[in-house]
Amino acid sequence: MIRVVLLGPPGVGKGTQGQRLAAGAGVPVISTGEMLREAVAKQTPLGIKAKVQMDSGHLVPDDVIIGIVRERTLQADALRGFVLDGFPRTVPQADALESTLQERGLALDAVLSLSAPEDELAKRMLLRGRSDDTSETVRKRLEVYREQTAPLIEYYRRLDRLREINGVGSMDEIQSLMLTAIGRKA
Ligand code: AMP
Repeated sequence: MIRVVLLGPPGVGKGTQGQRLAAGAGVPVISTGEMLREAVAKQTPLGIKAKVQMDSGHLVPDDVIIGIVRERTLQADALRGFVLDGFPRTVPQADALESTLQERGLALDAVLSLSAPEDELAKRMLLRGRSDDTSETVRKRLEVYREQTAPLIEYYRRLDRLREINGVGSMDEIQSLMLTAIGRKA
């Protein structure tokens, strides 16, 4: 049972590392980016609206994403824990997560903050080739990260939840640092 948030800039490897961490712990990954991409693919009303923001590198409004995560974390498979990838991304989202968990008598175990130099991130995102990974949106997404998401590092440090992880290295090395940080490895 783990409740972990993966924090970090786009391209740092939250998706890949998060899946592996979650599989090992037997909990689902809750990726807001994946959920939104599914909604876009299915052309749901949410998907149609979100696509515009996603394609330009902007964030989807807080109230929308908070509602989605609140519902998703109530589903049966998430009652034993989860790895959150890509949420929270703003201070209001982090506040909402704290109060949702508190209402349920729960708390986060840790926030794993992955980092890597910006030129490395841009390179990785352009290699990944997702539809929102064009050079202009990559720049915009890094800027949105710096302005709206990076303040969460201090937010979680103050709550004594933050564990900083170097996101440059092999898959195995980084996973191992993450496991150590949540006390799952000697
Ligand atoms: P990601 O796959 O996490 O990089 O997310 C892709 C895009 O989905 C982002 O650039 C945002 O437009 C949107 N998105 C994902 N998660 C969030 C979130 N927590 N808050 C707002 N927008 C989000």
